[in-house]
Amino acid sequence: MVVLVIQDNPQEMALLREALTNFTNPPILVEHADRLSVALSYLAVRRFDAILLDLNLPDSAGLDTLARVHAGAPELPVVIFTDPNAEPLAMLAVQSGAQDYVLKGPYNGGAIYRSLRTAVERKRLMTHLNERIAGQESRRISLFEEYQAGLLELTQSKAIISGELHLAAQAITETASRVLAVERASIWLFREDRSTIQLQDLYESSTCQHSAGAVLQADQFPSYLQALDREEHATAALDAHLDSRTLERSSSHLTTCGSGARLDALIRHRGKTVGVLCHESFGSPRTWTSNEMTVATSLAMMVTLAMESMERGESEKALRQAKEQAEKASAAKNEFLASVSHEIRTPMNAIVGMADLLWETDLASEQRKYLRIFRRAGGNLLNLINDILDLSKVEVGHLELESTEFDLSDLIEKAIEILALRANEKGLELACHISPDVPCTVIGDPHRLHQIILNLISNAIKFTDSGSVMVWVKPDPEIPSLGAIRFTVSDTGIGIPSDKLASIFESFTQAHASTTRMYGGTGLGLAISKRLAERMAGRIWVESTLGEGSTFHCCVQLEVPFGQTPTRNNIPLDLHGIRALVVDDHAINRLILHESLAALGAEVTDTASGHDAIEEWRRAAESSRPYQLVLLDCRMPEMDGFHVAEEMTRADPSQGPTIVMLTSRHWADDIARTYDMGLGGYLIKPIRRSDLMQTISIAFDRAKGIQQTAGFLSVTSTTPTELKALRILLAEDSTDNQMLIRAYVKQTPYCLDIADHGAIAVERFKAGDYDLILMDMQMPVMNGYEATRAIRAWEQEHHLFPIQVIALTAQALKEDGVKIFDAGCDAHLTKPIKKHTLLEVLRACKGRHIS
Ligand code: ADP
Repeated sequence: MVVLVIQDNPQEMALLREALTNFTNPPILVEHADRLSVALSYLAVRRFDAILLDLNLPDSAGLDTLARVHAGAPELPVVIFTDPNAEPLAMLAVQSGAQDYVLKGPYNGGAIYRSLRTAVERKRLMTHLNERIAGQESRRISLFEEYQAGLLELTQSKAIISGELHLAAQAITETASRVLAVERASIWLFREDRSTIQLQDLYESSTCQHSAGAVLQADQFPSYLQALDREEHATAALDAHLDSRTLERSSSHLTTCGSGARLDALIRHRGKTVGVLCHESFGSPRTWTSNEMTVATSLAMMVTLAMESMERGESEKALRQAKEQAEKASAAKNEFLASVSHEIRTPMNAIVGMADLLWETDLASEQRKYLRIFRRAGGNLLNLINDILDLSKVEVGHLELESTEFDLSDLIEKAIEILALRANEKGLELACHISPDVPCTVIGDPHRLHQIILNLISNAIKFTDSGSVMVWVKPDPEIPSLGAIRFTVSDTGIGIPSDKLASIFESFTQAHASTTRMYGGTGLGLAISKRLAERMAGRIWVESTLGEGSTFHCCVQLEVPFGQTPTRNNIPLDLHGIRALVVDDHAINRLILHESLAALGAEVTDTASGHDAIEEWRRAAESSRPYQLVLLDCRMPEMDGFHVAEEMTRADPSQGPTIVMLTSRHWADDIARTYDMGLGGYLIKPIRRSDLMQTISIAFDRAKGIQQTAGFLSVTSTTPTELKALRILLAEDSTDNQMLIRAYVKQTPYCLDIADHGAIAVERFKAGDYDLILMDMQMPVMNGYEATRAIRAWEQEHHLFPIQVIALTAQALKEDGVKIFDAGCDAHLTKPIKKHTLLEVLRACKGRHIS
């Protein structure tokens, strides 16, 4: 032990040297410096084990001396050598880092020697301890860093994310072996019933090899399993062979490797221990730190994650497979439906066609009754099959859409015309407004578009008992493309419950289950329309308030032929310079007529009542800018159209405006009266744009004195051969009248049967297939009211579509009208009936509606 004594007093130094030389185990080699500066220079170049320091030196004093010595030799233990009277300063020095102090003379060499040895030993131990602590800290830090890097790698590992358990296990064992510096890391999983433990993966760091598949019987390791159940996270054994918990497991595995330590972290899944992640360290026993145990537990959690990913992957795969199977099954179902419907349709056509042929033969009344029901049921079945066929065709993608050029407004007006009769019968106002900026000619599939529109309008009529059904056609406001068209059908009907707004577009779904029988239908129409609209790059949706009505919107994308402008440039009628007055109490009708006339160039005014119309007409006449054309609704409250017409023509019929009456098919009398009054013409609502133009142009020509070949009232120049060969039953007791009517229809293709009174008429009707009945109301045996009621009752009983019955009466009283319609008649004609009037009414009646 080499001691540097820093002391300025030579006598003291000599005594000290002498006192210390007596000690030999170990001996003390004394070096001396009499000043601090000298001591510091020694310290800089030579090695000492301890310093014996006098604090008061010629070149330094007090605690400052100690501080400077520490600065020169921070590692060396310092013992203070002090006068007894300076002991407090020595104690302060000990507090400032000196190891000990000894008092000067009488010299106790033993005390100094002991103090120096203890100081040296303490310093050595401290240094050792510090080094160990520093070593552990750096081990901890490196464990932490390794762990972080390993964890990052694992969390990004594709195998863990995708749930490939085999690859995930390999990645985890490799990381575990590296991070925890063990020779072997392995993952073992229990069987569900815990009877066996199977090796998922074992990694040996010395060979960098993986193995798997070993199966161990669990009953061979009862203590080990119990220990796992007891532990919360991990079992750590210093020496696996000696630890009772791990002995059973380790004896079979670690034997060949000598003794070893093991750390088994529990793998948990859904709250249960399902396996262990084992870390085995060979050679000498190893103490596992709590950090290492935490790291092992986290790595075991990665196994849990991998297992969860695997399960998720498996259930996703199962879902995908189930979906694919369901899609296949659905496609197969649709294929099947398509081919079955097609197969059924062929013989059904034959059945319905044969029934039609049979109908033309002589049949007993009972047979005719059965056949009538048979035909109707056959027709319904055919409709249903057609719907199913359509739907399944669209769903399997077999439906090919046509691409032909067609007139859009023509298509819509035809659809409206088909349904106008039904709307009329229910007393509903049916109107259609086509925006002038909708292209006239478009390219697309007219039949399928017709099908959609027909479905929407017929639903609206079906589910509306009073009020109106409106159809709007305009460019789609949401899509700025020329052929994007939006059809809107709104009604004032029963509405749709809000929770059914989406489901009604699914097949076989009806929103009003309890009333289904009342309205009939299959719940297929909207499903087909929706799919058709989607095929036309569009969609269908609905807004509705229960009890107030529904609005269906359908938008489709059609093509517009190159060079076509949205405005209709093929107008045959030019109304520029014409002042027109539209009189109708129904606002939407006014709007439609107003727009239609304005589009033809007319200067249009409209009024909502007869009184307003007369006032407006007078004002215009006085201002010397009279109206040349008046469109007059026949039926308005307070003052009807005929009153207004009378007022306008009273003064000077030749100077009056050209008046076109707006009537409904319901009122054949209105047509007759228009004729009787010599007005310009009539239009039957809902009014087709083409009819409007034709009627106005004929009325103007007539006013100018140009002869019309087919009669001045004709809406269309129909020739007799173009007329539909209606089968008419005339119920009339007067032979004169019978002869007259027979003579009227002689030159026409109409076929007339005669019944002398109501009872015969009812029997004839039951046995025959008539399009129309002309029913005299005053007859013996059974009058027209009773006969009509009997016919209506019979139709209802046999679920038949009502035949058109036109009542013939002598007087044209308002009360008669009510009575007639109450009995079930559709229209009313007042006797004496003129030939033209009758023919016009028959022509307007397009024949019996076949549902
Ligand atoms: P169907 O009319 O043959 O039952 P649809 O598919 O055309 O089949 O219509 C499905 C259901 O949607 C109807 O049964 C009805 O409940 C409801 N619905 C359709 N249109 C209307 C409407 N305009 N007003 C009220 N309900 C309607």
